[in-house]
Amino acid sequence: MPIQKGKGLLVVISSPSGGGKTTVFQAILSRHPQYKYSISATTRPARGNEKNGYDYFFLTDEQFDAKIKAGDFVEWAFVHGHRYGTIKKFVDKALEDGDVLIFDLDVQGANSMQKVYPSESILVFLLPPSREELKQRLLARKTDSIEVITQRLKNAENEIKRIPQYDYLVINDDLNVCIDKVDSIITAELCRPDRLLPVKGWI
Ligand code: ADP
Ligand code: 5GP
Repeated sequence: MPIQKGKGLLVVISSPSGGGKTTVFQAILSRHPQYKYSISATTRPARGNEKNGYDYFFLTDEQFDAKIKAGDFVEWAFVHGHRYGTIKKFVDKALEDGDVLIFDLDVQGANSMQKVYPSESILVFLLPPSREELKQRLLARKTDSIEVITQRLKNAENEIKRIPQYDYLVINDDLNVCIDKVDSIITAELCRPDRLLPVKGWI
């Protein structure tokens, strides 16, 4: 008998830039190939190894405007000087299919998801062990100029102030411990009775 799937779960992960969102969600997805990832649209140019339709849908300003007009986004926001948006049809499909859908969103996006999907979404914030460690990780990643890194570190101060609105806070010090914690949070959320009831054959 196939395992009963519960209601869909929307897992929103935020952190300051360089806080480990990409690293952590990719590890979770490789542990659980049945989980899905919500690919956002953005007007930011692709970085070196990023692929269109895999990391993001890279759009022009005109294409992004057209999507806003068509009502294709659940939410969109300006982040670090570019626009990013969550595509509604992926969310609808995940909820319809009872999937776990993971999102990498800034604090504004997380706030919108909480408002639109109060009972379907959980918000997880990843925080590096210190400001200095965050800076070192951004420098070591070698994907952004020093100007961009400085701007992102400045933005981090405002993002950190929003932590109290999150359901979970995970310190990303040892990477494997952090991945285990996020994995456990998702597993625990999937065991909530309101996601599983009625159980076929029982109630
Ligand atoms: P984000 O997606 O939040 O911007 P990344 O996942 O790209 O962050 O992580 C930023 C950099 O820090 C990457 O080079 C990544 O390999 C590294 N990193 C992430 N978590 C840790 C950790 N716990 N310890 C050391 N380096 C880490
Ligand atoms: P990056 O440019 O480093 O990939 O992402 C920059 C920021 O944009 C990150 O904080 C990321 O979480 C956020 N982001 C990515 N996609 C979306 C989205 O669809 N909506 C919102 N609000 N933020 C997003």
